[in-house]
Amino acid sequence: MSTAIAIDGPSGAGKSTLARMTAKKFGFIYVDTGALYRTVGLFTLRRGVGTRDAQGVAALLPEIHIEMRYDGAGVQRMVLNGEDVTDLIRTPEVSMAASDVSAIPAVRAFLLDTQRDMAKKYDVIMDGRDIGTVVLPEARIKIFLTASAAERARRRYRELREKGMDVEYEQVLRDIELRDKNDSGRDIAPLRPAEDAVMLDTTEHDLEASFELICDLIGERLKNGL
Ligand code: C5P
Repeated sequence: MSTAIAIDGPSGAGKSTLARMTAKKFGFIYVDTGALYRTVGLFTLRRGVGTRDAQGVAALLPEIHIEMRYDGAGVQRMVLNGEDVTDLIRTPEVSMAASDVSAIPAVRAFLLDTQRDMAKKYDVIMDGRDIGTVVLPEARIKIFLTASAAERARRRYRELREKGMDVEYEQVLRDIELRDKNDSGRDIAPLRPAEDAVMLDTTEHDLEASFELICDLIGERLKNGL
């Protein structure tokens, strides 16, 4: 049977970077579930449908075929109806669209099997908002990663600037706070730690220190067969 590790938490807490590093170290496949919501968000924007229009977005779903592929370097590629959209889904506009469409129950239901199938087939480290609570409640290890909104905005700002995007810190912070509010306040699968999740606040830890903490935790649990 395959083993699953769930990493949940708000935007910019370092989930994807840490999950990717950890997956590599332990030989698991890293599954970035936010990329699925982003892909639905991109399709919705392209079609000119309002991202909060639940009926409009639900009506688009039968036209969407999403594939997750892994390239030679183990990087997850997102393929939308045959087109590789991996880089196109990383803009601030698509981030907000993803947050909006993710509050629509039909969208969450549409993406559930894709996520569960990955965990059935492979040993996975999956990151998202509801992995430990809804998608994989039986996950062997659950980690809830947080950091203050200001620190998360600083990290996201640096990342977007490094990619050459012309963004302002204040705007990045406002986006993060708005997405936090959307993700935590929605009725369906709101962002919250599973009861059996280990809480890890990375505000005061840099990447290396956070990575070490996570590796210690996972190494210990796997060793003890917990
Ligand atoms: O993790 P990422 O920032 O790429 O996720 C984009 C958006 O998708 C989040 O703001 C959140 O609203 C949504 N999401 C979700 N459930 C997940 C993963 C992401 O609702 N498991």
